[in-house]
Amino acid sequence: MNDFEGLKALVTGGASGIGRATAELLAARGARVAVLDLDPSAVAEPLLAHRADVGDDASVRQAVAAAVADLGGLDVLVNNAGIGAQGTVEDNDDAEWHRVLDVNVLGMVRTARAALPYLRESAHAAVVQTCSIAATAGLPRRALYSATKGAVLALTLAMAADHLHEGIRVNCVNPGTADTPWIGRLLDAADDPAAERAALEARQPSGRLVTAAEVAGAIAYLASPLSGATTGTALAVDGGMQGL
Ligand code: NAD
Repeated sequence: MNDFEGLKALVTGGASGIGRATAELLAARGARVAVLDLDPSAVAEPLLAHRADVGDDASVRQAVAAAVADLGGLDVLVNNAGIGAQGTVEDNDDAEWHRVLDVNVLGMVRTARAALPYLRESAHAAVVQTCSIAATAGLPRRALYSATKGAVLALTLAMAADHLHEGIRVNCVNPGTADTPWIGRLLDAADDPAAERAALEARQPSGRLVTAAEVAGAIAYLASPLSGATTGTALAVDGGMQGL
């Protein structure tokens, strides 16, 4: 099904995990896709690659402009780049809060700000942001990370309202724990990786981790004209953990 034929998409954090699976799926469905990532060295054709740090406004503006020039326009922004943080409010100092908020929240704001002028020119404009079940589930030892994703959820709703009448839909996905290189790193750092993996799997009623491809499928739906009447929603992709 080539439901993205003729559409142009930009995926932040598209060199790994959920972003990579999304970029590959959109390309397989007919989109021209540019990836924007801190380290795009592993990004291969047909995907276009641009280096950018979403934590830096000038870097984002420059990379978005270059990517849109390469693509020849922009219809879909997948705001996906993000980083993790563990601990209670007592475990992370102000500097760490600022660092993670800057990437996970302001990173999406910067990219949207740079992309909106181009999206306004599109007849099928859609923004999809990677939020998390952490925004609503009350996960232990994820105070900072959850706060950033709560902000992404609220940002999604506010952006949907602001840009509805410009023909730009804005939605997000709320993945449960997804089997990506990020979770691989988290497990490698655990005292007992097998026990930690089993605990993560048990948290989801499906008894398994979500795959990056499953999250990409939800993102693709929200990015495609198939969801043309849907804006301001969060689609749970969490093995039945918590709907919204
Ligand atoms: P990942 O680490 O596999 O991939 C993240 C990508 O983002 C990497 O390619 C990395 O280089 C890039 N990136 C990180 N910081 C960046 C920056 N400052 N500028 C540009 N690029 C940057 O992670 P993932 O698991 O695929 O996570 C992707 C998104 O999904 C994140 O927003 C994360 O919060 C969210 N998420 C992940 C899970 C999960 O369990 N894996 C669950 C819910 C939500």
